[in-house]
Amino acid sequence: EVRVRFAPSPTGHLHLGGLRTALYNYLYSRNKNGKFLLRIEDTDQTRLVPGAAESLVEDLQWAGINIDEGPGFGGEHGPYVQSERMKIYQNAVKELLVNDTAYRCFCTERRLELLRKEALRTRQVPRYDNKCRYLTPQQVAVLLAKNTPYCIRFKLTSHNEPLDDLIYGSVTHNVSENEGDPVIMKTDNFPTYHFANVVDDHMMGITHVFRGVEWQISTTKHLLLYKAFGWQPPLYGHLPLLVNSDGTKLSKRQGDIGIKNFREKGYFSVALVNYVISAGGGFDHSPGQKQQIYSMAELAHNFTIERVNSHPSRLNPDLLNDFNRLHILKVLQNKTNTEDLVRHVQGLVRSAYPNEQNLDLDDQHIENVLKWAAKRLTFLQDLTTSKLSFLWVRPAEFKLKHMTKDQMHSLIDNLVCIEFTKDNLNDKLKEFADVNQLRFADFMKTLRAALSGLKEGPGVAEMMDILGKDCVLQRLKSCIP
Ligand code: GLU
Repeated sequence: EVRVRFAPSPTGHLHLGGLRTALYNYLYSRNKNGKFLLRIEDTDQTRLVPGAAESLVEDLQWAGINIDEGPGFGGEHGPYVQSERMKIYQNAVKELLVNDTAYRCFCTERRLELLRKEALRTRQVPRYDNKCRYLTPQQVAVLLAKNTPYCIRFKLTSHNEPLDDLIYGSVTHNVSENEGDPVIMKTDNFPTYHFANVVDDHMMGITHVFRGVEWQISTTKHLLLYKAFGWQPPLYGHLPLLVNSDGTKLSKRQGDIGIKNFREKGYFSVALVNYVISAGGGFDHSPGQKQQIYSMAELAHNFTIERVNSHPSRLNPDLLNDFNRLHILKVLQNKTNTEDLVRHVQGLVRSAYPNEQNLDLDDQHIENVLKWAAKRLTFLQDLTTSKLSFLWVRPAEFKLKHMTKDQMHSLIDNLVCIEFTKDNLNDKLKEFADVNQLRFADFMKTLRAALSGLKEGPGVAEMMDILGKDCVLQRLKSCIP
């Protein structure tokens, strides 16, 4: 069974980069009928942000990523929060001490500092000199008897450990040349990232790891740790840098690329998902095919790891808006989930006009509006701009001008029996003006005011068509004194 995980550190909100990583793991798991796990990597207690884990979960769920196992989601391999797994790491590190692939390091902070200074002075890369690797068992016993504080280091034996990357192909990163033996357990008994990550991936039965390419160098260490334990490592695939359309690094100001920010702007999660995938690949967009938006299920079904790009993934911001538009069109065309859009619009209009009691918000009316506006609509909240207030807000009372009460009654009678299409309405209005000898421009002004309370906007027939018969008749009636 395929088991993948998303393993964020709860140091902030989810942003595009994190979503991308989660998404590729998720699509892979769904494509293979596997499991998607969430693991919170909080061993660096100095960087924790309160509430970050909850907020990450919320954003993942909003994006349509369903967590099979994780904190609060159950699963047999928990706990899924690293700070609750301290015993597991302590037992694991003992194994490495026993099989002599790790050792206690008693070097003081002062000694390490001196090493760093000396390296800087001689223009060398600062690295630990592995001194404690060579302590005799007797020396260690003496130090332990004196309660000397220590950390635990891993013996980096090999220089390069070739990696067969599922996305990059075969790569080799040489670590031990510029690094001393890495700490795996700190003086305070907390594991470091590398150690906890490896132990957990193994204990949680992870089969595939997809993560940002910035972690690729660390994979050498990870593979060596697996060897030291005698465990089978998972398969690794590293996702290339995610960059702006001009190739520059993704905005540092997290707010811009924060998922919350996209949500607030009115992007649909499915648009954001398609946007990220379109930059990273992994999906067979048949060439020449008209631009399309795919559901999560469609993406998962057609997902192929071979198609994931290994060159930097450029985000094209125009595409994001296109996808948002395409989503609205698709929903209206397929008549699936129209309900969701309608509810969404209701919510937006209500909050745009918190003081209006009589908003026109029935489902059919909203659907008509959506159909009318769909081609020009990027965000649903575009429907709440003041120019379009007539769609929702009944105009305030006004004095009937340029036509009599009786004429208005008669117009209403005329409208009751015709089908509301733009052409029908145009014809009827012209005819009515002729028969009643009304100046057409004045007549239109009056109707526009009665229907919308506005001086400008779409043509009167078009407006009537969008508003629909019930709404039009009601508004016309209410302006008869
Ligand atoms: N906790 C690491 C992060 O924040 C996980 C890296 C990995 O997937 O191994 O990205």
